[in-house]
Amino acid sequence: QAKAAGRNRLCVFDPQMQTGMAERAALTAALREAVDHRQLALHLQPQVDARGLPVGAEALLRWQHPTLGMVAPARFIPLAESSGLIVPIGQWVLRQACAQLRQWQACEELRHLELAVNVSPRQFQQPDFVAQLLALLDDSGIDATRLVLELTESLVVEDVQDTVDKMRQLHRRGVRFALDDFGTGYSSLALLRQLPLHQIKIDRSFVRDVTHDSGSATIVRTIALLARSLGLQVIAEGIETPAQHQTLLAQRCRFFQGYWFARPMPQVDCLAWLQQRCRVAPSVSSSSRSTL
Ligand code: C2E
Ligand code: MG
Ligand code: MG
Ligand code: MG
Repeated sequence: QAKAAGRNRLCVFDPQMQTGMAERAALTAALREAVDHRQLALHLQPQVDARGLPVGAEALLRWQHPTLGMVAPARFIPLAESSGLIVPIGQWVLRQACAQLRQWQACEELRHLELAVNVSPRQFQQPDFVAQLLALLDDSGIDATRLVLELTESLVVEDVQDTVDKMRQLHRRGVRFALDDFGTGYSSLALLRQLPLHQIKIDRSFVRDVTHDSGSATIVRTIALLARSLGLQVIAEGIETPAQHQTLLAQRCRFFQGYWFARPMPQVDCLAWLQQRCRVAPSVSSSSRSTL
């Protein structure tokens, strides 16, 4: 676009911007290789309930570049989106996630765990997204009700009807949905009611300030209330301190994710983390739940 404009118009580049563009182009080219060269990995961050027991994990993509080291998602996900690479990358993430769920579901004490996967707009908007995921679910033979897709408000509002249609098709197969980074976008109450949602994730920015900023505390309390009245689970992300945890518990938030509980970690480490905690609490099984 800049090139086309440059042909008959004066186009001013500052050196800073040029470096930025060259760097982005180089990173995009490298990212193209990343899938084939096994440079991508999923890290998992556990999610816990009010008692601190694991309920699942969120899959977070990591790119281990041979010379740049670990490249943060904030840097490469936008490039993957704009280049379209998010489609094969996202497909890879979903395959990995289903394989992870199959492993958990082969263990008695882990089969109740949910795995949440971030899905970006460009990926979800592919016409064959639903068909591909349904095929993947059939192939992997997992219990699809343990798969949670995290969508953002901005994705949903871009094309509400298409989003709702796709969500319903997948929901019919058992797949659950979470609205990520909730509170930062523009979704309306009417929209929330229309979506087959399972969970709302309170954005980290509100959690960060919840103990010392009454505005954030009010937002968190309101989101929790709203979610409960709609029959949705609320999970707070980015819990870093016991004070934040306590404040959110007091505001009747029942699910948590954050460094205070566990950082994102490689899949094998997360397996050990979960096994340790799910084993010490065998009473989570359905037999004892009825007596609670
Ligand atoms: P997100 O989905 O909101 O994920 C939560 C982010 O918060 C993760 O950052 C996680 O590491 C970080 N986090 C969790 N607990 C804490 C905490 O206590 N303190 C702080 N400071 N941070 C915490 P991460 O892994 O860097 O991912 C950033 C974003 O990149 C994600 O935000 C998500 O939007 C995107 N992303 C990550 N993996 C994927 C993926 O597989 N596909 C797509 N489309 N997007 C992804
Ligand atoms: Mg997320
Ligand atoms: Mg989030
Ligand atoms: Mg976020």
